[in-house]
Amino acid sequence: MTTPAIAIIGGGPCGLTLARLLECKGIDYTVFERDASANSNRAGGSLDIHAHTGQHALREGGLIDEFKKYARYEDAVMSLADKHGKKVFEMGQGRDDPEIDRAELRQILLDAVPKDKIKWGHVLQSVAVGEDKRPVIRFSNGTEISSFKLVVGADGAWSKVRSVITQATPKYSSKTYLESRIGLENPLYQTVASNVGAGSSLAIGSGKLIVTQRQGNGSYRIYFGFEIPENYYRDGTVNLQDIEATRRWLLTNFYADWSEEYQDFIRHATDFRAWPLYSLATEDMGWKSVPGFTLAGDAAHVSIPNGEGVNLAMADSLTLANKIEEHGLEDLDKAVQEYEADMFPRGISSICDGKRWAEVMYSDDPQAFVKLITSLMPDE
Ligand SMILES: Cc1cc2nc3c(=O)[nH]c(=O)nc-3n(C[C@H](O)[C@H](O)[C@H](O)COP(=O)(O)OP(=O)(O)OC[C@H]3O[C@@H](n4cnc5c(N)ncnc54)[C@H](O)[C@@H]3O)c2cc1C
Repeated sequence: MTTPAIAIIGGGPCGLTLARLLECKGIDYTVFERDASANSNRAGGSLDIHAHTGQHALREGGLIDEFKKYARYEDAVMSLADKHGKKVFEMGQGRDDPEIDRAELRQILLDAVPKDKIKWGHVLQSVAVGEDKRPVIRFSNGTEISSFKLVVGADGAWSKVRSVITQATPKYSSKTYLESRIGLENPLYQTVASNVGAGSSLAIGSGKLIVTQRQGNGSYRIYFGFEIPENYYRDGTVNLQDIEATRRWLLTNFYADWSEEYQDFIRHATDFRAWPLYSLATEDMGWKSVPGFTLAGDAAHVSIPNGEGVNLAMADSLTLANKIEEHGLEDLDKAVQEYEADMFPRGISSICDGKRWAEVMYSDDPQAFVKLITSLMPDE
């Protein structure tokens, strides 16, 4: 038995993709995940997995056929409407960007990694450089480990690994998503299903938005988007546990001038959950490589959601795994330097796209979104 050289912090799409790719290459590693077990009931919506990034990584990991068992090609479609419900655009027909539930993607990856290589219930508390220059990682359960040669921070937007590499922290964008559900048992379900159908619908107006997204089990996840101070759901502005009060608050303060159809969505929405939207800045990219540590996925370049986040996280993992294989465990520093040089432009472009998406989505002009989306997809 030898100690693995690589610690992966975080068992999200990024960390588990990296684990699977290292597994395929015969390179040993350990994943440390804060969730208590594989069955932890984590929230998370449907994700579209793109051909050249997310799917490419799955193919390289030998998982594309498994992915296709769950991939919902019919849900790649999206329609755009104004706040009165008038459709102005449709896209996605025939595109190779199928949707999959986050939980299903996680399970596919978990099934492809030996169980003993994932340490559940390990909440990373801090990282440091030891006297021997090796990384030291400390967990909230008191465990301290200093045997790894490389620690990969795949621990999401609020990465604890990041602090040893850069002082950058995500900034609040002033925009939020308030997530909610319309389940199969909801009295409005049939109406939503016949209005939205497959895929997603996005409605834009008066600086607000409503995204309605079909999930794998046919239910709908609805995101209400608007500008609001960062801590509104903690400072007494609204109690999200009080469903009726939250509905009234949305109708009165944000969606009073929206059509009855959308107001009905609000009157029936349940399970509210706040997603304040954060982003790193483009200037935060380009740090000087720190021996023994690197970042990938949201930990490296979290941005306002732009439809790419999970795909870029998986693309990071593929590049990093390939660089580690190319340079071997004896030259991990070189592997990390080359990986980071490849990742920074991806991160900068994603951060910029996130800002551009937010500008047009939180506007009064659905056509501005059409212009942006068609410019990003010239073959559409
Ligand atoms: C509301 C919303 C909607 C989105 N929609 C989309 C979309 O439609 N398409 C898309 O591509 N992207 C979307 N994104 C972005 C996408 O969710 C992220 O880019 C993606 O999940 C990044 O993957 P990751 O593995 O890097 O990070 P995460 O998914 O955040 O995973 C990080 C993992 O690390 C673990 N972890 C965190 N801290 C610690 C710690 N201290 N110790 C141990 N483990 C830890 C977490 O439990 C988690 O398992 C959306 C984001 C939001 C907020």
